[in-house]
Amino acid sequence: MSRLDSVIRRLEAQRRTLDWAAAEIAGRDGLVLELGLGNGRTYDHLRDRLPGRAIHVFERWPAAHPDCMPPAEFLVVGDLRETLPAFRARHGAGSAVLAHADIGSGDPAVDAELASALSALLPPLIAPGGIVLCDQSLDLPGFDDVAPRLGVPEKRYNAWVRR
Ligand code: SAM
Repeated sequence: MSRLDSVIRRLEAQRRTLDWAAAEIAGRDGLVLELGLGNGRTYDHLRDRLPGRAIHVFERWPAAHPDCMPPAEFLVVGDLRETLPAFRARHGAGSAVLAHADIGSGDPAVDAELASALSALLPPLIAPGGIVLCDQSLDLPGFDDVAPRLGVPEKRYNAWVRR
């Protein structure tokens, strides 16, 4: 498989899990969290699939395409290791029905360290039945790995549902 094939498979898996999650949470209360704004591509996709729904976006260095910048009141600027605990204190445990984290840097050590932090920081924010999607492998006891039943090729993207 070429590197182009690999990128395409990853993006297809990302879109598949985002579309599935958007359909799953339709009509359900709860916050939607986008961790890692980057260029704003997946934020733009989520807001397209979830029209009218508030999406809280977390990013330490916001520099997305101007068309893909969230409203200021929904942009949480800073390191996730600091902003997620503060967000939980403000909005409460179990307040999120969907969290999508696309935080890969290309440095495996950096990504593993952040994945470990997210494995601890995300679960308290997620409601029962809530969904976590991530580009990284997270350690989430109490969550079911649903990526295989979504038809996601192994390790291309990750999806869990809280029991
Ligand atoms: N999903 C985005 C898109 O489709 O355009 C791409 C996200 S990009 C791969 C990862 C983003 O996560 C970067 O913008 C980076 O600054 C952000 N990020 C990485 N580690 C972070 C951290 N500890 N706190 C906050 N943001 C972080």
